[in-house]
Amino acid sequence: MKNILVMGGAGYIGSHTVKHLQEFGYNCIVADNLVYGHKEAVLTPNFEKADLLDKASLKNVFDKYNIDAVVHFAAFTYVGESVEKPQKYYENNVIGTLNLLEAMLTHEVKKIVFSSTCATYGNPLYMPLDEKHPQAPINPYGQTKFMIEKIFEDYGRAYGLKYIALRYFNAAGASKDGKIGESHNPETHLIPLVLKAIKGERDCIKIFGNDYDTPDGTCQRDYIHVEDLASAHRLALEKLDDFQGFLNLGTGIPTSVLEIIKSAEKVSGKKCPLVYEKRRAGDPAVLYAANAKAKEVLGWKPEYMNVEDIIRTAWNWEINRKF
Ligand code: UDP
Repeated sequence: MKNILVMGGAGYIGSHTVKHLQEFGYNCIVADNLVYGHKEAVLTPNFEKADLLDKASLKNVFDKYNIDAVVHFAAFTYVGESVEKPQKYYENNVIGTLNLLEAMLTHEVKKIVFSSTCATYGNPLYMPLDEKHPQAPINPYGQTKFMIEKIFEDYGRAYGLKYIALRYFNAAGASKDGKIGESHNPETHLIPLVLKAIKGERDCIKIFGNDYDTPDGTCQRDYIHVEDLASAHRLALEKLDDFQGFLNLGTGIPTSVLEIIKSAEKVSGKKCPLVYEKRRAGDPAVLYAANAKAKEVLGWKPEYMNVEDIIRTAWNWEINRKF
């Protein structure tokens, strides 16, 4: 296995995975429509502009390169937008993935590692969340990822598709060398917004609720470094012959919004202006992963177990960002 097609390889987690795979000797081909991705983030000369909804563009990629396996990141990921524009999300994420699978199977490519999400679980019934937790997504974004997981199970049985879907918790941080990092437009994620408030690029960070049943009243999440996600994708690619299924990727450590702000202040040496706002609809109080299955199946271990170290890489990127 040498040639890996990275669909959505110009995006945040995709670009870090390309970097990591290349450091481990794989030859990556990136396909991306560049709607949300950045050409500057693509660290391979093998780039093809392709779109999941344009079957001809997908066929072209598989005709041109001798692909051994696919890592699939390409998706729309804004939860709020998915509630307002579900058609856009079902079409791009679900139909787009069916198109990708069709192109793969007609070219005899049967291996795929996929970006799934803890949003497929919906409202948590217990903590930490393990893979056996019932799946009942509460927004169209989570539904699309859940549907794709089901499609993989059926395609596995019918066509011998070998798949691993990785259910991410909160991806964070940037590459250690500062070459690539998080760059969303619009930005909605906590850590980059806190860092922009510290830099003075935004007035302040709005804290969505401080009346939750948590130690400091703000929501707790499980922040996992993007390079730890990247290493899990490589390990998953290498395990596809022995295992198919679903794995949580998180550190297993809950961190509150206020703890993130405090760590960011420490790392930057500056104060973060903040205001308290109402709770945001759909936010559970606490979400963190049981990650034992990923550790056991993949032999994976997150390197970044301290959120301050994660934020340090994000801050280094934020003050020197190239895109
Ligand atoms: N959050 C916040 N203010 C913001 C953005 C996020 O207080 O401007 C909180 C949000 O309520 C959640 C946590 O930060 O508890 C992480 O949110 P994010 O959108 O980064 O990721 P999510 O957990 O929603 O996937």
